[in-house]
Amino acid sequence: MNSRVEKIQISGIRRFSEKVKKVDGAISLTIGQPDFNIPTDIAKAMIKAIEDGKTTYTSNAGIDELREEVCIYLKGFNIDYNKDEVCITVGGSEGLYAVLFGLMNEGEKILIPGPAYPAYENISIMIGADVVNYSLNDDFTLNIEEIKEKLDKEDIKYLVLSFPSNPTGAILSKVQRDELIELIKERDIIVITDEMYASIIFDEYYSIAQSKEIKDKVIYVSGFSKIFSMTGLRVGYVACVEKYMKEIIKVHQYGVSCAPSIAQYGALIGLRKSMNDVESMRKSFERRKNYCIDRLRALNIEVSEPKGAFYIFPSIKKFNMPSEEFCEKLLNEGKLACVPGTAFGDLGEGYMRISYCYSDDTLKEAFDRLEKFLKSNFQNC
Ligand code: PLP
Repeated sequence: MNSRVEKIQISGIRRFSEKVKKVDGAISLTIGQPDFNIPTDIAKAMIKAIEDGKTTYTSNAGIDELREEVCIYLKGFNIDYNKDEVCITVGGSEGLYAVLFGLMNEGEKILIPGPAYPAYENISIMIGADVVNYSLNDDFTLNIEEIKEKLDKEDIKYLVLSFPSNPTGAILSKVQRDELIELIKERDIIVITDEMYASIIFDEYYSIAQSKEIKDKVIYVSGFSKIFSMTGLRVGYVACVEKYMKEIIKVHQYGVSCAPSIAQYGALIGLRKSMNDVESMRKSFERRKNYCIDRLRALNIEVSEPKGAFYIFPSIKKFNMPSEEFCEKLLNEGKLACVPGTAFGDLGEGYMRISYCYSDDTLKEAFDRLEKFLKSNFQNC
């Protein structure tokens, strides 16, 4: 066995969502799969791609039209890349994998937020890199001082940013973006910014990728799984300057050759025709987010308001139970599954993740169950 692979675990999100199947009648708020159908134009484009026989390999970096369309889309966020700086990947996951594998060496230090999407840490461990975690402010926003301190103390080569965040829904403010850009200018680091949920945002969008001055230190990772509700079709992308891309593309080529051809044609039409669908999904997520906040606050549960993505990360510290144990109990007794905060690293202890990409009816029933469970098990609820 590969001893590094042996060190890591299957994602806690998956592990928990599998447990739900074994509990009769349980409701799951565990998975980050929007409950919307894929936009019709994307579905039609993929059917047409099959009929037209577009089922062969594409170039390693993906079809030119999609890479060009990604550049136009990013330009709408004030982010500048040209087609040759974009590689279409097998979802954001393979994008992250190819980036980290393409750049990092064994023993190098990478600074990763906690709590965070578990792939950053686990891929780094597989590569043999040395993971250093940075904590966030109480509302899960970026704590620049903490990052500075870590950079001063240790020889860190890579920094991961993840906004809008899975699992917290936090985003980057203008002030934080500007401070971060100044910091990155001074330091010899490479920053990987994972912006999988960039179009699902309830406030102003800011990203360090908007800065031309640090473009040669930034790698942008994103994809279409969430915004087009097409998680199973596996299309994402990486954008960065050539010196990184030429290494990343090698890992991508030997790992997957190219992203699925048909799904690339779907994503292309999605960017051209389906942004109205994205906007209506975004509005639904915002409404559901407000509903979750109201229900949690009515139960006196401390929660920071998410500003993007479709997750909420309430504190369960006052119930004095490890988050894994709390979520097990909630599942077995309350018939409701949420993901323990520790699935997002040690700094997730004391929280649980609720995914609110479920229907209004499911959310209502889920919160009714949560309320009943808390009232029958804990005082002051
Ligand atoms: N990055 C973040 C922050 C995510 O939440 C996810 C999926 O949940 C991914 C990357 C991976 O996305 P994909 O399903 O496109 O591989």
